[in-house]
Amino acid sequence: MRLRHIPGCEAFVEKSLHVVREPEQYKGKWAALFGNHRPIDLEIGMGKGRFLRELSMRRRERNFLGLERYASVMMKAIQRLEREQEMLPAEERCGNLKFLCEDAGRLTEFFERGEISEIYLNFSDPWPKASHANRRLTSPRFMRLYDQILAPEGRVEFKTDNRALFDWSVEAIPQVGWKLVSLSYDLHGDPAAMDNVMTEYEEKFSSRGQKICKLIAVR
Ligand code: SAH
Repeated sequence: MRLRHIPGCEAFVEKSLHVVREPEQYKGKWAALFGNHRPIDLEIGMGKGRFLRELSMRRRERNFLGLERYASVMMKAIQRLEREQEMLPAEERCGNLKFLCEDAGRLTEFFERGEISEIYLNFSDPWPKASHANRRLTSPRFMRLYDQILAPEGRVEFKTDNRALFDWSVEAIPQVGWKLVSLSYDLHGDPAAMDNVMTEYEEKFSSRGQKICKLIAVR
């Protein structure tokens, strides 16, 4: 997702209470930031944040971090979260969701080994040119980074409508020591996916009749 640059978006993101600035300071100390030792799940390439807003409300027993590199997109995610929270009674607002405006290439600077319980990749940029394959968030380069920050039982869950990216990922992920424990080529037609939480892109693409693919990888 790339929005036109919005004047002032960097300053807006910089002062938001929902954003963790200089996340490298919290490496190994995220439990202290959240004030509890609950599992921490991370969405990489969060976009406008619909998925995490919903999931963090449903699963209050966990903590959630949303990573998005563009300040213009992050600004939208913050505004939507604020709007949603304003409509809730104070006791229902929860502090289990925080945002990071950073690039996924720096993950190991932010998280200690095993500090993340689950990684979500939703509708990641496809980078269709072969010469850009190592920018794909399911590439060996990124899977090695995830290996360094995920707990031993941790999982990577990946959803996309892009069949070429999905097929490529199904081949590439096992090559660096991961196992695919779940594979669906039509998530919305799968009764096991009743509790699926939709993302912005998922809503858009599935409403056009495109099938959604999903895989889950573990080591
Ligand atoms: N997950 C959302 C948005 C998908 S678009 C949804 O499903 O609706 C992919 C998003 O990932 C874009 O907003 C893009 O800016 C972000 N992104 C891509 N590569 C990234 C990287 N290396 N680090 C951080 N964010 C990234």
